[in-house]
Amino acid sequence: MAIKNIIFDMDGVLHVGKTPVSGAIDALAKIRKGGIKVFFLTNNGEHTREFFVERLRNFGFEAHLEELYTSAYGVAIYVKENLPGKRVFVFSEGMRKELEKNGVEIDMSNKAEVVVASLDMKLTYEKLVAAFQAILGGAVFLASNEDASYPVEEGLKPGAGAIVAALEKSTGRKPMVIGKPQPLILDMIIKKYGLDKEETLMVGDRLETDILMAKQEGLKSAFALSGVSKKEEVEKTGLKPEYIIETVDELPGILGL
Ligand SMILES: [Mg+2]
Repeated sequence: MAIKNIIFDMDGVLHVGKTPVSGAIDALAKIRKGGIKVFFLTNNGEHTREFFVERLRNFGFEAHLEELYTSAYGVAIYVKENLPGKRVFVFSEGMRKELEKNGVEIDMSNKAEVVVASLDMKLTYEKLVAAFQAILGGAVFLASNEDASYPVEEGLKPGAGAIVAALEKSTGRKPMVIGKPQPLILDMIIKKYGLDKEETLMVGDRLETDILMAKQEGLKSAFALSGVSKKEEVEKTGLKPEYIIETVDELPGILGL
């Protein structure tokens, strides 16, 4: 069946750190010209959707706000729909901004009713203490994602999963995960735009999030070797993407564009 929609992971697929992946800008332009609907879905909850649109545009990609989904946005929608009125403890400033923009009340004390663990480049022990105490006090425990690491130019850095694990270990509680591989945000996109899963391709660099979600949800998948996961891991994980590509540069050719 022909591919009509593509959902791109960003980090490790369209860019690595502050550098766009070679050929990616042209590839995305060709894909759009071919009439394929484009979405961006990142587990990164460090910034607002507006920030990511701006960043993609600064790299030279065409990008629109309504195409862009982040774990922070997923958290905002989830809290609004399922935990309305609850006061939420957040880690990063970007998560705070995204939630506030969507009308969610923030509480940075150990009395918060919901704790959202996510990547925080300004992590302090004090924040861990407050979140830990809120969770032990009965707060709902959410996680933006559990990515162990993320790629930068010089290699890898610890991801949100490292912060989630600190709270999991100390409280003995498990969070509900909002980002990939959980299908919550994907379902929002599918529902809002009426996409057919069989006509939708997920492009990602991480087997245990991007590709696992695609497999579990019945999407097609393309595994890009430009980011975190390595080709050898395909065998090990048993996750078989439809396509394995060095970079997204190969996608227009695969799709006959
Ligand atoms: Mg990635």
